[in-house]
Amino acid sequence: MASDKNTATNFINGKTCQAKGNTTLPVFNPATGKVYSVAPDSSASDIDAAVRAAQKAFPAWSRCPAEERAMWLQRIADAIGKQCAALAKAECVDTGKPISLARSVDIPRAESNFRFFAAAATQFSSESHNSSDALNITLRQPLGVVGCISPWNLPLYLLSWKVAPALAAGNTVVVKPSEITPMTASMLGDICADIDLPRGVLNIVHGSGSTTGQALVEHPGLKAVSFTGGTLTGTHIAKSLAGSFTKLALEMGGKNPSIVFADADLHSAVPEVVRAAFSNQGQICLCGSRVLVQATIYEAFRKQFVQEVQALRQGDPMNSKTQQGAVSSQAHMGKVLSAIRAARHSKASILCGGEQVIVPGRCKDGWFIAPTVIEGLSPEDPVNQHEIFGPVATLIPFQNEHDAIRIANGVKYGLAASLWSRDVDRCLRVAEGLEAGIIWVNCWMKRDLRTPFGGVKASGMGREGGVEAMRFFTQARNVCLNLRPESSQDK
Ligand code: NAP
Repeated sequence: MASDKNTATNFINGKTCQAKGNTTLPVFNPATGKVYSVAPDSSASDIDAAVRAAQKAFPAWSRCPAEERAMWLQRIADAIGKQCAALAKAECVDTGKPISLARSVDIPRAESNFRFFAAAATQFSSESHNSSDALNITLRQPLGVVGCISPWNLPLYLLSWKVAPALAAGNTVVVKPSEITPMTASMLGDICADIDLPRGVLNIVHGSGSTTGQALVEHPGLKAVSFTGGTLTGTHIAKSLAGSFTKLALEMGGKNPSIVFADADLHSAVPEVVRAAFSNQGQICLCGSRVLVQATIYEAFRKQFVQEVQALRQGDPMNSKTQQGAVSSQAHMGKVLSAIRAARHSKASILCGGEQVIVPGRCKDGWFIAPTVIEGLSPEDPVNQHEIFGPVATLIPFQNEHDAIRIANGVKYGLAASLWSRDVDRCLRVAEGLEAGIIWVNCWMKRDLRTPFGGVKASGMGREGGVEAMRFFTQARNVCLNLRPESSQDK
């Protein structure tokens, strides 16, 4: 049973196992700053074993009826649902996120990803194009073995967002989770072993990005790579794959604007803009880290915003009342604090937060940063240009729609944006002008799994979600049937 595990294990060819050389990596609890477990430090040879197992499993899995694949995905979802409490605890310990968030978002969402794509497996259809003399039938067939690489911020949630559609479409999969947060992926391996998922259909190999991840990307047996992580890593992976003709989808970083117009309902907008900036300590790719506020309401907005940020309850992530936990690693804490130092250096005002926080008791050595609000930086300042991916939001005033769009688009990223206004016409105009793959109006992170998910510019390439994911994980081939053979002979 996948209950409280002491160490993370690989899952290859239907069996949980260690890395071949028995080498391990330490796993830290960010809330205590201490090593609490180890994970396999897998080599290219472990990756090779996983890809071979997946290759062997592919013919039977790809040919089995969609209803059967759907049934396996439902079984995985059922097991995740049953073990929600243990999985949420593991996610909380591994990431430092509040247990309430892991219980209410991460694990239920992982479960629903499997359920959603179980249904998608049976609903996915191909097209036909009928003309007077021919019938074109488009076949959408699975690719083969695909590699999925996922980050540490929403470990099981984002892993399932890739694995579920890949399996639903008939591929077999090798996953490389982040070495920083291996535990729920390891528990997913246990779940697959418990339910007797056919061997080799899903393989989970832990290890560092630069060795295990790189070995996966470079394996000649892969037909596609689906990556979620930072833009630098994504760029590196794209370069590694150049010339291999391996299909590639990249979901990368963001520097998302929340744009608040003077006519917004501040009563509902402010708490949501706070949530957009600080959920999961600002470590969600969709977080609105640049808060653009129309100049005429700037003072009033700032006051209310800072008050609500200061009221966020920070503390032990295992306490169910905690709203702000720890950041993922000591290195990441250093990176976030250095961005705050850079803001100070640029003569910005730190309106609240701005430093590491010591949480007394068992968390006294943990990696906590006070939720931080900064103002006074130009939109072009590096702090407003580069992704920080932590509990830091900057306030930026703007004059009018044109100004808001210019500032919002003035970064290399283009993942998400949120708009706050009562004027629907304006919202549509501004939404059209924004360079972002996902735009929310008077809400944030409202998700419908059928909709396309992904960024533009340096935020991504390809789309996840619904039919887009099923299309990514299949290849389209066209068969043209001549309906008037005699006319071809005539020519
Ligand atoms: P990361 O450092 O880029 O790592 C992402 C994954 O890639 C990890 O599993 C990592 O392994 C692996 N990796 C690193 N180097 C690799 C290589 N050379 N070859 C193959 N795999 C390699 O990103 P992160 O710090 O985990 O995650 C934070 C970033 O992800 C932020 O930029 C955030 O915006 C982005 N993100 C984007 C989305 C989206 O949907 N657009 C969603 C969530 C997060 P190790 O961790 O073991 O090094």
